[in-house]
Amino acid sequence: MPLGNLAVNEDWILECIRDLGVDGLSAIRTSQLRFDSRFRKYCAQNLCGNYNRSWTCPPNSPSVESIATEIVGHPDAVVFKVSGPLRFTVDWMSMMRVADRLGGICASITDKLIPTLRKGAVFGYGPCKYCKTCAFGSDEPCRFPDKRIHSLECACVDVADISRQSGLPLEHDPDRISFFGLLVYEL
Ligand code: SF4
Repeated sequence: MPLGNLAVNEDWILECIRDLGVDGLSAIRTSQLRFDSRFRKYCAQNLCGNYNRSWTCPPNSPSVESIATEIVGHPDAVVFKVSGPLRFTVDWMSMMRVADRLGGICASITDKLIPTLRKGAVFGYGPCKYCKTCAFGSDEPCRFPDKRIHSLECACVDVADISRQSGLPLEHDPDRISFFGLLVYEL
């Protein structure tokens, strides 16, 4: 990541995120994002097994309205995606490998890129992966409340719509999976 570059602008931010090894990215405006609070019902169904298991997953996450307000309080955004192969349709291990790679990229953006911006926040997939193990499981408060990373799903952002608008295919084929992340920022 070319930190130290004084010319912090959209191109530089795109370059920084590209350097982290994403498999596609695109600049968008937060005014383009669509929110649908009905997505929260899928969290409550706990199909992913993460409901009430981290400080960032419902019911412990902020309200949809408060996350949406935070997101649109930043004018600009970069959507990025990480993808990887599956050995069969429900290849959970490979899916988690891709999700963990996205989690590492989101943590790098939190630690290295966001401090260079006037303000910013990053969103990923699934529970926050900033720490190796979330403090929630030990009944302790979040260790880094300013750095915790919520998912786009918990924020009720319509990821399929982002995919359409940005031209980045959202893959969930029998042999490939992709997850999206989002940096929102103000220079
Ligand atoms: S920063 Fe650490 S303790 Fe806090 S939500 Fe993320 S993983 Fe959990």
